[in-house]
Amino acid sequence: MLGKREVTKGEMSEREMGEEYQRIVILTGAGISAESGIKTFRASDGLWEEHRIEDVATPEGFAANPRLVHQFYNLRRQQLLGDAVQPNAAHLALARLEAEFPGEVLLVTQNIDNLHERAGCRNVIHMHGELLKSRCARSGELFPVGGDINVDDVCDCCNLAGSLRPHVVWFGEIPLLMDEIYNALHQCDLFVAIGTSGNVYPAAGFVREAVAAGAHTLEINLEPSAVQSMFAEKRRGLASEQVPRLVGELLSVNSMTR
Ligand code: NAD
Repeated sequence: MLGKREVTKGEMSEREMGEEYQRIVILTGAGISAESGIKTFRASDGLWEEHRIEDVATPEGFAANPRLVHQFYNLRRQQLLGDAVQPNAAHLALARLEAEFPGEVLLVTQNIDNLHERAGCRNVIHMHGELLKSRCARSGELFPVGGDINVDDVCDCCNLAGSLRPHVVWFGEIPLLMDEIYNALHQCDLFVAIGTSGNVYPAAGFVREAVAAGAHTLEINLEPSAVQSMFAEKRRGLASEQVPRLVGELLSVNSMTR
């Protein structure tokens, strides 16, 4: 039986946990990868790995110092490809949900790492891009990247040096595949946000769309997010513990009602 922990009176959606769901949308943030050894973004006073966001995650920062920005993402990529970073129990549980849930599951991640895919997820939207891809700033063409990107690399499509950038959506840019995400939100009956601080829009506004669609909404986080009041249900704790438990509940409710 699915629990109703920390459900605030007056915040209950019409739906509740314990029901059989048909269409689930899951949003993940940096918190789900924290236990895999990848630092979150706001954990260190608004800095991302000791850098100001303006310097490493904006188009203006890239224009001002492309060498620094490439170096920043090269280091993130090297870390991601090292043996120490592996999918954790939360990533694995979501892959199990995708494989075994009889309804639809859409996983939308703000993360640029590939830990969901490495855990076995196939249906993942990377709304903020992917660290293991580069993009030609002229044509938009994408290329897989297994090593560093440097300012003097020559792009395969335009044959020019300096046109490759990380395939990462920076502040001030429009996230990817938003139509597909909003379509899914407008049809979902369960929305779960995992390990995201609710500070970065438009992702922080997804819960509002799900509430408007009549979905049950659940936040899993170590601490209350900036948009926690919008959620009907909150579960506090480590993603590696809370997510496998939720997945077990969703799969057992569904197998009982089939
Ligand atoms: P955030 O860093 O702003 O917030 C992380 C949230 O996760 C916090 O609310 C924190 O309380 C929670 N958290 C931390 N550890 C947790 C755990 N073990 N279990 C459950 N919750 C935990 O993250 P955000 O909201 O995703 O925004 C950060 C932005 O920076 C994203 O857009 C993303 O593109 C980028 N980013 C990505 C990565 C990555 O790809 N892994 C890492 C850092 C930043």
